Order: sequence, then structure tokens, then C-alpha cells
Amino acid sequence: MKRPGVLVVWLAALAAAAVLLAGPICPANAAPDERDPDATLGVVYADGRQTEDISLFRLERGSDELYISAFDLARIFKATKYWSPGVRKLVLRIDAHRYLFTLDTRVVLVDDEPVLLRVPVRYIDGSVMIPLEFIAEVLTPRSGDEVELDEERFVLTLGTPEYSITDISFVEDEDGTRAEIHLSEELLYHVDSETPGLLRIKIYGGKLNPLKLTIPEGRGLFNRVRAEQAEHDAYLFFDVKRTAARFKVEFETAGTVLERERKLIIFLEKGELPEIPDVDYAGKKMLEILDDETAGMEQEPVRVVAIDPGHGGIDNGKVGVSGVLEKDVNLEVSLMLRDRIAAELGIEVVLTRVDDQLIPFDQRVEIANSAGADIFISIHCNGWYNTKAGGFETLFLSPARTEDEARLAREENASIRYENPDLDPDEVDDLDFILWDMVQNEFINESSDLAEIVQRELDGVLEIRNRGVKQGGLRVLKGLTMPGVLVELAFLSNPREEKLLEDRDFRDDVVRGIVEAIRKYEGMRSAGYRR
Ligand SMILES: [Zn+2]
Repeated sequence: MKRPGVLVVWLAALAAAAVLLAGPICPANAAPDERDPDATLGVVYADGRQTEDISLFRLERGSDELYISAFDLARIFKATKYWSPGVRKLVLRIDAHRYLFTLDTRVVLVDDEPVLLRVPVRYIDGSVMIPLEFIAEVLTPRSGDEVELDEERFVLTLGTPEYSITDISFVEDEDGTRAEIHLSEELLYHVDSETPGLLRIKIYGGKLNPLKLTIPEGRGLFNRVRAEQAEHDAYLFFDVKRTAARFKVEFETAGTVLERERKLIIFLEKGELPEIPDVDYAGKKMLEILDDETAGMEQEPVRVVAIDPGHGGIDNGKVGVSGVLEKDVNLEVSLMLRDRIAAELGIEVVLTRVDDQLIPFDQRVEIANSAGADIFISIHCNGWYNTKAGGFETLFLSPARTEDEARLAREENASIRYENPDLDPDEVDDLDFILWDMVQNEFINESSDLAEIVQRELDGVLEIRNRGVKQGGLRVLKGLTMPGVLVELAFLSNPREEKLLEDRDFRDDVVRGIVEAIRKYEGMRSAGYRR
């Protein structure tokens, strides 16, 4: 996503296109996907599809009209396509309407009514190209309020999503500037201040409209805000002025409980610092300044790590397509982890089980708590009905947000049935939601930090799909008096990944990634990272 810079790019591309047109190679001869786009259209979906950038092309000599390929258009609008090369006609069915295009013709038949475009539909190396004007002038008026094209910023919004991050407002006073993020429900967040002058707020399970929440000019100590929607989570990037001395991110402390949870406040404090002209130096300075916040909050280094091999005994966990048992993989990887953590980091490791037996959740927690562990890492393998599902993910404890996260939490929690066969699984879920915030609440920020680091380090060593950091109401992490995460290494239901889970090199990579994550997390903590 590069919304704020898009017009600049657009103008530069215009100049480049003019040069190309004058030269011996006519860009019209290149297939649209082989040539550089003349502009980019950001598409924001309400149906959960990920925000994406679509290439736009200028095909008419001496004209500013932009084109989108019929392929992209059909995909974006989930249209049915009929292409008839003999008569050079294309039909798109979008919702209740039928649109008939004829190549090199400006007339579009909309449900048999002719509509005249400014430029003709074109055919370039295997792609039918539709003028962008079609979206603005033909599709939008027929969409109800479902389609919105911002032609100035090149953003197309489809549908009216249920946003949970609804607004950002600013309040300035003599001490500094507050940015208030308005939420329609309670959501968890993660702050990253590693890039100087930039605060990145990840809001787990958040839904926002990037078009609305990207603010080109902030107020006070905020330069601007960039908003992005990813598949599961939302991101807000706050550009911070160099005169900001310190920052603080927290939920509103005034008002009713509901109001407090519904307003996330970023407070930037004004500093005494003069404006620093040199950019590099200023950048470094900013990092020091932001890190200063943490100076008084020195944390304990990591001394003991608890590793929890999931399942065991009569509880096999997931069973692979060719019969590999999750409990065995979990234990073997955990034993490797124990040795490598001790050897490379010199950190004491406590395991919740060292052989093939079922240890109840409570007892696992008790082992970690009484060992005074500083972090808790539970090792698991994933599984799903579809054998193509794959990848690794890291979870931390919280009320599960999405269907998939709830599913994973349910499955991992199912072990409790072996501990207490009379318990109804639905009761387990209820129990989860009552208990989840009692103890772990205070560790959620650290747990999400740890989960982000583990996921990032595994991404550096594993070739399989990165499924991201998720949150789940995980029974095994309940009652821990330390930050804890659960790692799903790969899918036993996926034949290729089942093989990997048995593979020495793959296990080595996993162990290397987790050891590195502990090292990074430890570094962050002992440097007095803020939250
Ligand atoms: Zn498991």
C-alpha cells in the first residue's frame, strides 16, 4: 500500500509513458502484466479479502484515461465472464446486471441499454482492457452504496464493512498531543517502536477502512497516520515528529469501563529538544528518545524457560495422514529445544513432560509457575480436514476472535476431555472465557510481543507458509504467571508437512528459530523494552 505517494508516482509514470511513446518500442505492444503500470488502484474489500493494489494502464496516445484489465475487474467484482473472440465481445455479469463490451467500441450495453464511454474498450496482447471510467460512471451508480471510487487517491472500496476501528481524533494541549483511536469493541494491540520516528500499532482482529483512517496531515506531534487492513488484523502507522520526547499507549483511563476499553490513546509528550537538522542523527536520536521511556522500568532478564510438549499418553493430539502422532513430534522437538537453549543461551529449561504421559493443563501451568519460569512456550502441530492447509503459526492467550482461532483453541483445549471425561466441551469453552483474563491479562502485552518475535524468527528459517500471530482462549496458557505462547509448527494433515515434521533438518530449523526468538526477546526485555 502506498496511498499517500500515489499521485506522485502517477505523475512520474506519465512522464515515463510519454518518453516510451516517442521511442521505438510502443508500450501498447507489451502485455499489460509485463509493462510497468501507469498508476495503481488500491482496492479495499468489506468481505474479508485482503486489501490489494491493482495495476492501471494508459493506452490511448495523448489521453489521460486509465484502463483496468477485464481479468482484474472480474476478479474484484466477482463477475461471471463470457469472452467471445470471434465477435470480439465480452460479457460481464456483476450482481444483477449484465454488461456487454465490444472491442474498439465506446458503447457498453448495460442490460441492453447503451451507455457511451469516453474511450473505447481495447485488446492488448491477450487482455481485454476496460476504461476505469466504467467503474466510476457505470458500475458505481448501479451498486447502491456498495462501490465507492475515490479518483483523486485511487482507492476503490467495495461494500460497507463492519468496522471495529472507527475513527482517529487528535487532542493537543501544552504537554503534548493525544491521538485517540476509537474502537467499537474491546481489542488487543501490540506496539512496535523499532523504527525511529514511527509507531506501529497492530490491532488484533481489528477491521478498519484504510481510506478513512489514513490521515495525510496529523495534528501537533503527529505528522501523519497510515492505516492498513490485513487479513486478520489492522495496522496503524503513526509518523511522529522529532520534537516528541516520549510516548505512551494505553486504554482511556477516564470514563465508564466501556468507554475506557473503547478508546486507545497514544500520547506523545513534548520534549525540550531542539529541532535536529541531520536526518540520520535525528533518526538515531529518536530511537534513543523512544527507548528512554523504558529506562526506569528495567525488567528481569530471562533466566528460566518452560517448554511444554503438547498432549501425551492417551491423548495423541493430531494424527498425521500416514500415522505420525502429534504427541511424539511435540516431545522430540521439545527435547531438542531444551538442549539447544541450555547450550546456546545458557538459560535453564524446565519441561512439563519428558516422556509419553498425559499431564493435565493445570499441572503443566503449576510446573512452570513453581520453577519461576520467565516465559512459557507450548509446542504443538496443527491439523485440518483439507490436506492442502499448511504453515506455522503462533498463538497467545486472549479471547479467540475469529472462527479459525476459536476452532484452534477448541481443538487444543479438547485434551481436557481426557483429564475429565465427564466435562462437556461447551462447558470448557465457557470456563475459558470466564477465566481467561484472571491471571494472564497482565501478561498479554508481553505474550503478544513474544508471539510476534517467535513468528518472525520462524519465518526466517522455515519455508512453509507463515500463518501469522493469532490469539486464542488457550486452556494450557491459563493461570501462568509469565508470558506464554503456543506454537503450531506445521500441519500433520498435510502429507508434505507431515514428512517435514519428521525431518531432522526441518526440526533443526524450528529449534534454531525458537532459540533465536528467545535470544531476541531476552535482548528486548533486558534493554528495558517498554511493554
Ligand atoms: Zn496440539
